[in-house]
Amino acid sequence: MNPWFAKVTVLVASVVMVAIRAPHGQRSRGIPVVKSRKGPLEMVLLTLAWLAFFLPLIWVVTPVLNFADYSLRAVPFSAGTLCLTLGLWLFQRSHADLGTNWSITLEVREKHRLVTRGVYRRVRHPMYLALLLYSAGQALVLPNYVAGLSYGVAMALLVALRVGPEERMMLEEFGKAYEDHMARTKRLVPGIW
Ligand code: SAH
Repeated sequence: MNPWFAKVTVLVASVVMVAIRAPHGQRSRGIPVVKSRKGPLEMVLLTLAWLAFFLPLIWVVTPVLNFADYSLRAVPFSAGTLCLTLGLWLFQRSHADLGTNWSITLEVREKHRLVTRGVYRRVRHPMYLALLLYSAGQALVLPNYVAGLSYGVAMALLVALRVGPEERMMLEEFGKAYEDHMARTKRLVPGIW
């Protein structure tokens, strides 16, 4: 397949992701933060996530990563497009359900509410699941070993290293209500884990 299919798909997916996040991000930033756990590890994870988000765009617009290209095939491309679509749908749903309680890092905002409805009814981290689905989609769609895998590596690290501290912070903040939420839900995969 012509790599331009991958370039257009990656570009469209990135624009959709930014368009979903932008209004929610703007609304949340207007609400003061009352507790922050943004330590050095969070800074490293966020920097990696930003770099990994831009590498695919660098692949789209410049030839610098061409050394790691391979040929694009229809089956992984179609499966990847499906994962990207599912990931973006869940990303939009979790942003809508979390509302102004969202933060890019580990923070509690003024009048923070514990969200347990919508996609949070089934799993505690639907947005991270969305980002992992999106990463899998990008790895399948983008025929380049560096740019295709970059977001997946960054998201796998972010999820592996953040979920524990985030749940501890939520337990401290919401106590029994978060304990009950933990008892009712799985972490990432509905009904499994
Ligand atoms: N881990 C969640 C949220 C990611 S955004 C997910 O994957 O969907 C990270 C911020 O969301 C954290 O700083 C925390 O303050 C907030 N948060 C996480 N779970 C929440 C919940 N159930 N209700 C309200 N806020 C939550």
